[in-house]
Amino acid sequence: SRRRPVARAARCSAAGGVAAASPILKNLQLKCATPLTVLRHVADAMAADMRAGLAADGASDLKMILSYVDSLPTGNEKGLFYALDLGGTNFRVLRVQLGGKDNRVVESEFEQVSIPQELMSGGTEELFDFIASGLARFVAKEGEKVRLHQGRKREIGFTFSFPVKQTSIDSGILIKWTKGFAVSGTAGKDVVACLNEAMKRQGLDMRVSAFVNDAVGTLAGARYWDDDVMVAVILGTGTNACYIERMDAIPKLQGLTNGSGKTIINTEWGAFSTGLPLTEFDKDMDQESINPGEQIFEKAISGMYLGEIVRRALLKMAEVSALFGDYVPDKLSVPYVLRTPDLCAMHQDDSEDLEAVDLILNDTVGVTRSSREARKIVAEVCDAIVKRGGRLAGAGIVGILQKMEKDSKGLIFGRRTVVAMDGGLYEHYPQYRKYLKEAVTELLGSEASENVIVEHTKDGSGIGAALLAATNSKYSTEV
Ligand code: BGC
Ligand code: MG
Repeated sequence: SRRRPVARAARCSAAGGVAAASPILKNLQLKCATPLTVLRHVADAMAADMRAGLAADGASDLKMILSYVDSLPTGNEKGLFYALDLGGTNFRVLRVQLGGKDNRVVESEFEQVSIPQELMSGGTEELFDFIASGLARFVAKEGEKVRLHQGRKREIGFTFSFPVKQTSIDSGILIKWTKGFAVSGTAGKDVVACLNEAMKRQGLDMRVSAFVNDAVGTLAGARYWDDDVMVAVILGTGTNACYIERMDAIPKLQGLTNGSGKTIINTEWGAFSTGLPLTEFDKDMDQESINPGEQIFEKAISGMYLGEIVRRALLKMAEVSALFGDYVPDKLSVPYVLRTPDLCAMHQDDSEDLEAVDLILNDTVGVTRSSREARKIVAEVCDAIVKRGGRLAGAGIVGILQKMEKDSKGLIFGRRTVVAMDGGLYEHYPQYRKYLKEAVTELLGSEASENVIVEHTKDGSGIGAALLAATNSKYSTEV
């Protein structure tokens, strides 16, 4: 039996219930709508903003950051490498034994720790000490089974899921935190130096050989198995995309080139903002966020924010139209209480009485009783927000592919092209996935979209970073 919280007497003035809520729903659906014209506009704007960002620094919402990844994994990588992954919610340590072309990943082992909430808004040293001590514990447990060659240090590929101005393959300066992180003193600093200092304090002697964004790590990891991977997208707590670009198509490099003539560009597309169908709830959420005016695309499509947008819409319906009766459920006013897994569970509910919706409303926001009609409205609010998110993500992907197609004259849509995808939102939310794919097909037409394969590569960024540590090893790889 479920316990139901007692309704607080926060009365709302208006009467009307479900009937009065439905115009608010209709208006929300209208503001959120993503018909083909809107999608096309977004895809074109994404491509245009990419070009502007490649032309000059600071000229576009899209930073189009050079990754300094000049050669992609080939499959020949050999030896023992580590990866460290600092993402939105977790931090992970990984060890892989790479066996070369025929053996690939011979052995791998990982450990995952969730990042304590207080570290996300503490000081830089505390955060990096926490990471370095996790790394030290992982290494301490290795014992006899790991043997290093004389004079070699353990080498790490460090995946860092925040916007960084890379200064080389193994260094880069944090531009700003995103995804609810507000650690003081890190912005403007070299993140690898922060880690090195923390490792020193731990008495740990490892070296970072590659420092990469998670999207870049995912691309490298997926490319190891499949030569057709050209783009990588992250749809999790936050969002981002990167792709393979020709050096001569990057005007801001002013002719500078590298051995392969190609590199990976980190778009930081979370900062995109052109032509998005936004609602009053998006705008209020943005204003009250810790980074107002920033990461507008991310706030409309990624996992951290979908539940919060829905919560704000439901709160308005409860206040203005008494959606849940003549009171406003207490927890409905708590920012970020409604999370993506809750939306997903409600959205999935195809029972006659929408029992899962009832249960979640009760558990998460303290709705003591709801009518079937009210639950139906809640499910439709979830659908409107998630549909917009998935479809805009799809339009973003098409924008990148369009830009690549135009420059390569047929080398993208005329052949198999793989978009490597990672992140919990994509992985765990079937409707979101469906909406994303529908948008891609609508935009490209069924023929071209048949060649575009969106492939989920789970945790590819870890292996990818380890591979890039191997590619950029400071030692001879002839072990
Ligand atoms: C960050 C990106 C990152 C993405 C996905 C965004 O908030 O700005 O650097 O790749 O989240 O983790
Ligand atoms: Mg991640």
